[in-house]
Amino acid sequence: MSGSPEHIPRRTPRTDVLLADPRLVEATVRLGYSIVKDAVRTAQAAVRRGELAPEDAVDAALSALPEVASSLRPVVNATGVLLHTNLGRAPLSAAATAALAAAAGTTDIEFDLVTGRRRRRGHAALNALAAQVPEAEAVHVVNNGVGALALAATALAAGREIVVSRGEMIEIGDGFRLPDLLTSTGAILREVGTTNRTTVRDYAEVIGPRTGFLLKVHPSNFVISGFTAAASVAELARLDVPLVVDIGSGLLRRHRRLPGEPDAATVLKAGADLVIASGDKLLGGPQCGLVLGRVGIVEQLRRHPLARALRVDKLTFAALEATLRGPATPTVQALERTVDELSGRAHAIVGKLRDHGVDAVAVGSTASVGGGGAPGVSIPSAAVSLPDRYAAALRGGPRPVVGRVSGGRCLLDLIAVAPADDAVLVEAVLAVPR
Ligand SMILES: *Cc1c(COP(=O)(O)O)cnc(C)c1O
Repeated sequence: MSGSPEHIPRRTPRTDVLLADPRLVEATVRLGYSIVKDAVRTAQAAVRRGELAPEDAVDAALSALPEVASSLRPVVNATGVLLHTNLGRAPLSAAATAALAAAAGTTDIEFDLVTGRRRRRGHAALNALAAQVPEAEAVHVVNNGVGALALAATALAAGREIVVSRGEMIEIGDGFRLPDLLTSTGAILREVGTTNRTTVRDYAEVIGPRTGFLLKVHPSNFVISGFTAAASVAELARLDVPLVVDIGSGLLRRHRRLPGEPDAATVLKAGADLVIASGDKLLGGPQCGLVLGRVGIVEQLRRHPLARALRVDKLTFAALEATLRGPATPTVQALERTVDELSGRAHAIVGKLRDHGVDAVAVGSTASVGGGGAPGVSIPSAAVSLPDRYAAALRGGPRPVVGRVSGGRCLLDLIAVAPADDAVLVEAVLAVPR
């Protein structure tokens, strides 16, 4: 034995001793015992391997602790896809986030504080939705868009037929297909037309006593171009059966940047009896399914036993109300960004990175809305281009940044990044060893 320090076995501090450190006691109150104990075990293992001095174990455990008790991490979306399903679709506004916190405890979700009696669940959020779409006689909210569709199929067409175009039988992702969902409710699908062309006559010819409703689905994640034809909402509304339109994206009114994207107000005005949409796509709110339309039909859905299985929680109602009544959502703000503004930000970021010797270049980029809507629409944007090895390094950083790799470079597209997060991007890139 040489007697040099690294050969002297150093004692690993005991778990109970470490957990008694006041800073770890405080962390246990905040995060719970199991998370803190895991961090302590990891630090002890490092001491045992000789990689950490015993007296540094508490500091190491503290720095390994997560900020919150859930493992979902905030991620900067630099993919150039506005609504990225794998990144949780729409980011909530600060107003909606604050509303979530306010409603997290016990709250008057279904209670009238004046009379002390029960009140319609989520009344304020429902009123806010109704106020934004006066074209709807009534509104309802369920867990997600597909939940709304399942409820409509069950309540209006179980054992009966749903008439739908062959061009609109979409798979929405992760292997889930709308036709399977619709038939799982006990409804019978009556497919009409062809993949590329369906006319009003195709629908009219199969309408009969067994028809539950006509369904029009917005193909939100693909485009069919070329020799195509589809029946319009106005044409279908003239047929004498209920018309349900799944617009997908949750735009309540027309958006000038997305002229081809259907919106609830226009579709209702054109004569749809029921409109279904998601809350966490272009509306920019929490995950939920919006149901808007004729009062008789909305009530039929709302009173159906299945509606209880699709009931949304207080957090969703809180975030939805704040989304509808509050300032422009991050999604709407992103849609409003001009390429000049984005390019200016890219150049400013690149300047800071190059000052530190990073191989960064400001480049033009093409962004998209994503699976949540506006298929085929490319939005001019700007990006910071880095060597491709940055992609993995940035994902693995303390504040993960997700870009996209294209042409052997890692592109950080700025369209979905809030300007306040530009500094986060700079810091994340500079933290990667050059
Ligand atoms: C996204 C989408 C759905 C699914 O909505 P969820 O809220 O994800 O359940 C259904 N239909 C269309 C047309 C869509 O775009």
